[in-house]
Formats: sequence, C-alpha cells, structure tokens
Amino acid sequence: MTTMADLQTPNMPTWCPGCGNFPIWVSFKNAAVSQDWNNRNTSIVAGIGCHGHLVNFTKMTAIEGLHGRPLPVASGLKLANPSLNVFVFTGDGDCFGEGGNHFIHSARRNHNLTVILHDNGLYALTTGQTSPLTQHNVKTKSTPNGNPDFPLNPLVMAISAGATFVARCYASDMAQLQEMMIKANNHQGFAIIDILQPCVTFNKILTHQFYQENTYYLPETHNKNDKIEALKKAYEFGEKSIPLGIFYEEQKTPFEKEFQHLENQDLIKIDVTNRSLEKTFEKYY
Ligand code: SF4
Repeated sequence: MTTMADLQTPNMPTWCPGCGNFPIWVSFKNAAVSQDWNNRNTSIVAGIGCHGHLVNFTKMTAIEGLHGRPLPVASGLKLANPSLNVFVFTGDGDCFGEGGNHFIHSARRNHNLTVILHDNGLYALTTGQTSPLTQHNVKTKSTPNGNPDFPLNPLVMAISAGATFVARCYASDMAQLQEMMIKANNHQGFAIIDILQPCVTFNKILTHQFYQENTYYLPETHNKNDKIEALKKAYEFGEKSIPLGIFYEEQKTPFEKEFQHLENQDLIKIDVTNRSLEKTFEKYY
C-alpha cells in the first residue's frame, strides 16, 4: 500500500503561507494513500504556474510541460498506457489562456483524464496579471485601472465542450476535495474539478473568507445528468451563491476505447524494437 512517506520528496513546498495550493496538494496525497496511487500506476502532468511546483513536492512519475500544454502530453500518456491514472494539474491562466484550445478539444474527445484546475483567478507565478478567468473591472498588475475583459466560465466551457464529469470544490474543504478527486479519477472520460484556490498574495478579492461566506453545496435534488440544469448552476456565481459539488456527469465512451485495434493490446505493450522503417522511407522519400 502507498504511504505518505512514499509520496514525499526531499523538497518542501515553497508556496506562500496560506496559499490554496497547500490543501490541494495534501488532498491529492491523502487520496493517493487511500487509493494506492503511486509511481507504478499513476502519472501527473502539470502546466506552468505556482501549481506546477507540485511535481517537485510529490514523489510520483511526473512531467511539467510547456505553458498551457499539459493536456496534450497527458492525452498521449493515457492513450499509450490506458491502465495509468493520469492527473493533469493546471492553473486558470495555463488551462484557459495558453491552453484554451487544448482544453476544448480534450473535453470534446472525452480523453480519459482527471483535470485539477487550480483556479485562483489570475497569473500568480508571474506576480498577479489578469488571466482569462479574472473578473471584470478587477485591478491587477496588468490592469491597474480595472480589467476591461469579461471572464470565461470554466464550468460552462467544460460542459459545453463535452466534458463528462464536471465538478467544483473549494481548496480548503479537504474532505470534499479528496472525495471528488477519487470520484473524478474513477470516472471513465474527461473529468474536471474547478478548485477555488485563493492566491493570498495577489488576489485580494477571491479570498478564503470570500469563499467560506459565499459557497454552498449543491443539494441532493440537483440532477447532475441534466445538461441544462448543470449549465444553469454553472452560471451561478455571486454573493451566497457559489455552488460546490458535481454539476454534470455522463457515461460516454472515453477516447482511447474508440480504437478497436487497441482493444486487446495497449500501445505501450507493442514491441517496436525490431521494426524496420526502410520500406516506409522508400515509399515517401
Ligand atoms: Fe500561492 Fe499566490 Fe503565492 Fe502563488 S503567489 S504561491 S498562488 S499565494
């Protein structure tokens, strides 16, 4: 069984005290211990941002890719080795700025991945510029007179693009977050958890206090199989009205199961050591 010590690297986290990345990291490790996720059966792929440092503090097979590109890297990993649990850690700037196009098409294809969105409402690593999720009129380093742009809604984007498991958690609600990470990983298809992650240094609006005062759990009566109801809930965001929980869930064939020739043989198990490419080169050159 995986233990906490198995997941520990010699590096200690360098995030600012109070940062929402801490409880996300701990929740993931708690989930890993409870589900026996480890170096042999799980890979993590991170983008660029404060969240990406998680790969340095978590002893698990990991890739920290180019800015905005964790999804294509993770899609390739899962396609080659479908038995792996593949987690994508990404920030709101990474995922919806540089990586926006990848997000749409990964969700549309229902790649069998779990996306952990560290949603702090700005680019934190580069010291607080607006991201595509920054609220309108908010003053940041890059918009000292207020953000002239209107934000994307990550849940609406996910549901509309075709994601088949769409949820939201608050970073410091570690019990719900740990449970949601397990559910999202068990889901067969594209799963995203939008995690409200306070950046205590640069975001003075979306604070721990703000989320503690204004979030609520979706009731049992919420029909998570109804896309229209899910979209209505996804549009809710304001005073006392930020829902947490599973907004939408659908059973649908994941991308890697669409390839009949891979049904009984994972790409990673195909022996390529003695393949000659001579005939292919002759044909095309
Ligand atoms: Fe966390 Fe913000 Fe500090 Fe980055 S800058 S470590 S997101 S509090």
